[in-house]
Amino acid sequence: MNILVINAGSSSLKYQLFQMKDESVLAKGKIERIGMETAILTHEPAGKAEVREVSEILEHTTAIRKVLALLVHPEHGVLASTAEIDAVGHRVVHGGESFKNSVLVTDEVKQEIKRLFDLAPLHNPAHMLGIIAVEANMPDVPQAVVFDTAFHQTMPAPAYLYPIPMVLYRKHKVRRYGFHGTSHKYVSERAAAFLGRPLEQLKLVTCHIGNGASCAAIWGGQSVDTSMGMTPLEGLMMGTRSGDLDPAIVPYAMGKEDLTLGEISSMLNKHSGLQAISGGSSDMREIVEAMEAGDKNAALAFDMYEYRLRKYIGAYAAAMNGIDAIVFTAGVGENSELLRKAVCEHLTFLGVEFDEEANRQGRGLERRITTSSSRVQVLVIPTNEELVIAEDTYRLVQAAVD
Ligand code: ADP
Repeated sequence: MNILVINAGSSSLKYQLFQMKDESVLAKGKIERIGMETAILTHEPAGKAEVREVSEILEHTTAIRKVLALLVHPEHGVLASTAEIDAVGHRVVHGGESFKNSVLVTDEVKQEIKRLFDLAPLHNPAHMLGIIAVEANMPDVPQAVVFDTAFHQTMPAPAYLYPIPMVLYRKHKVRRYGFHGTSHKYVSERAAAFLGRPLEQLKLVTCHIGNGASCAAIWGGQSVDTSMGMTPLEGLMMGTRSGDLDPAIVPYAMGKEDLTLGEISSMLNKHSGLQAISGGSSDMREIVEAMEAGDKNAALAFDMYEYRLRKYIGAYAAAMNGIDAIVFTAGVGENSELLRKAVCEHLTFLGVEFDEEANRQGRGLERRITTSSSRVQVLVIPTNEELVIAEDTYRLVQAAVD
């Protein structure tokens, strides 16, 4: 069975085609700048040369048509015909309280995703465009949706409610949902396999540290808390997002700087975090380079980032009354030796015995970066959200056939 995984953004579309027999990737790619005359398509077929095209792609239906054409292209393709695509799995950011698991797309599911547009105005409408574009091009192919929020639906009320009037929750569903659930779930399962222990017996803190970043407290395989909230703005300091701050800053800064709601929202989401403190870059590679060259602002940005992450790990150790392992994943978590070292060296009180040598080795592999006698293990586990989406889609389609 071949499954096409799609992550549709408002002006971009990423895809990966999986052969489920061995879970290999037959092709992957992305289209950026959808809606413009100069949209950029990058297509990487396995074992063949990469293709890059610049052309006018004004909307998602055309984007999907382009992708399908490339997948069956005589030179750049990997399939004889689009009939060889058995199902499509979509990433959907917000499933609200309606979706606790991945589901097959039906009219009702589409209606519910639309009802959730308010909660994720930047993401869910774009995902819906992706679903409709697939329908337009491949009307008979089953589609599934996999939600970033679903895994965190096991959080108990004390973790998911905000201490504000309950009417906001009852009427408007203002609560904490959490994101990156697909990744937290995947790395927690891989961590249990790596440690050779049943997931049901483990208390884990998983740290998905990419451009966006979140931690999760995972107890017995269930998410019991996570750092992102109603939106992905809460929690850790990120590349361009502030993470936690005193909400009174919002009206205060709006008044002092004469900002609109849109402007303050853009400031907190797009111009804060590492970028704001370093005075330029939101990319951890550039922060570390600048810091090593003596840039004090970059060093401050790094220290704040690490400090805020470490505080969350401590909080989750308290939330679960102890932890067995900490897992680092995503762009920064998998690649930044320096961040992992800084975090681990400050967690000796928890029983973390850092292994400097192991931290430097094995890039791209699942590995342990603590000594064998460390009471709390620290692991690096590369995430693979697309594979989880493909697996969930496969499972749902198989179940529907059986
Ligand atoms: P996204 O949240 O967009 O999916 P990723 O998980 O791909 O992000 O992470 C992207 C980030 O990973 C980059 O912004 C960069 O800061 C960081 N990164 C990638 N490689 C390295 C590296 N070698 N050292 C430090 N940070 C890195």
